Amino acid sequence: MESEAPPLEIFFFPFVGGGHLIPMIDLARLFAVHGVKSTIVAPPSSTTVFHKTIQRDQESGLHITLHTVHLPDSDHPHPITSLDMSAKPMTETTILQEPVKKLLQERKPDCLVSDSFHSWAASLASELGIRRIGFQGSCCFSQCAQDSIRRYKPHEKVASDSDPFVLPDLPDHIELTRSQLPFGSKAPSGTPRRSSENQENTYGILVNSFLELEPNYVKYFKEEMGKRAWLVGPVSLCNTSAADKADRGQDSIIDQHSCLSWLDSKEPNSVLYISFGSLVRLAQEQIHEIAHGLEASNCSFLWVIGKVIGQEKGSSEVLPDGFEERIMRSQKGQVIKGWAPQLLILEHKSIGGFLTHCGWNSVLEAVTVGVPMVTWPLSAEQFYNEKLITDVLRIGVKVGSEEWRSWNQEPKTLVRRERVAAVAERLMSGDDVVVEMRKKAKEFGEKAKRAVKEGGSSFNDALALIEELKSFRK
Ligand code: UDP
Repeated sequence: MESEAPPLEIFFFPFVGGGHLIPMIDLARLFAVHGVKSTIVAPPSSTTVFHKTIQRDQESGLHITLHTVHLPDSDHPHPITSLDMSAKPMTETTILQEPVKKLLQERKPDCLVSDSFHSWAASLASELGIRRIGFQGSCCFSQCAQDSIRRYKPHEKVASDSDPFVLPDLPDHIELTRSQLPFGSKAPSGTPRRSSENQENTYGILVNSFLELEPNYVKYFKEEMGKRAWLVGPVSLCNTSAADKADRGQDSIIDQHSCLSWLDSKEPNSVLYISFGSLVRLAQEQIHEIAHGLEASNCSFLWVIGKVIGQEKGSSEVLPDGFEERIMRSQKGQVIKGWAPQLLILEHKSIGGFLTHCGWNSVLEAVTVGVPMVTWPLSAEQFYNEKLITDVLRIGVKVGSEEWRSWNQEPKTLVRRERVAAVAERLMSGDDVVVEMRKKAKEFGEKAKRAVKEGGSSFNDALALIEELKSFRK
């Protein structure tokens, strides 16, 4: 009889922010399905959000636990304890260092997977002799684009912020403008760039993407940039039950049944889904332009209205007068003010397009269900993701966003209602280019599902990492 070795133990240490936390929880669950003992290490606010899902996993026999890190007592709440998961990008998290260190010393896991925003975690793991793997939550393409800019500084060779330049050395012809670059990458040559990723003490990187989506960029990432990477996505596919999909992220504020039965009443591929993710805020004027544009268009829509710049929860109405009553009466649209069950919505057969801010999770979730996109990047690495969607994969249409800004900053220009209406109608139309996009999107969706099945590329990458980590035990 074979002797039973104890299961490999991996700690997952997410950053508390929707787009970072959600895929890391999925990642921990995915590795548990592969037989790993997964422990999610997080502050109380985020463990509360996921406990129902994890409990279901435990009941089904998976080795997965939530470990709550308690913060030292303080009179002032720390931003990472925020209940709505909106800790700002790069929020300082060293307050967690001592309790995490103690836990790692006690438990000595085989590996620590930590979010790149915990910039101290890599050296802590190295000090304790624990292998650390990074998780950034973005695709290979955006990291290659960023690398090309850092290496060749093409943005320093153009005269103005609106002049396009080509990103040197990449497998495809990719153009950007300086105004679309994140602040950090615009720093003149020679300026040290604050990096969120500690490369030195990092064994490798887990990527939420799959080989068949961006093969040339996976190659570039590994061979040109010298990264040791495992592509194990789309991680959202580990949510197989309706309950998992419904509970993902936050408790949805809407009655799912009414939202889904409204979608049931619509024709296949006829509804445009609109969401700007978990963090970014829009200006009130922009919300009005979107509302008027959607109302003037001939499309049905389901619109998740997130937070508005300068307004906190519960503050006054953000939509134009009478808008909601009109769209509900005509059955043209629905709005969700708060958290939406995005996976359930996206996979509904009536959804024919997704107007997205191009956050990587949302993009990949759309790819997974084969839905083409209207791209409206605003912040973070979203302008790179837009290029992947529209210029490489060719499964989306640009709204025409030109200006990178911080997640809560007022925009300098607005996308006008006429443009919103035109681009929504275009994506939902039956024109030949869009039909081709829809076909391609469906093909990528099939490939995504195959990648995570037994024998698929992502399935094999997860197994390869597990075997590699096990080999260090001998
Ligand atoms: N999400 C959701 N409901 C919402 C808003 C967002 O389920 O109402 C999820 C979405 O499915 C995705 C994540 O939150 O998994 C957002 O991540 P993304 O990378 O798209 O954008 P970010 O929030 O980081 O800007």
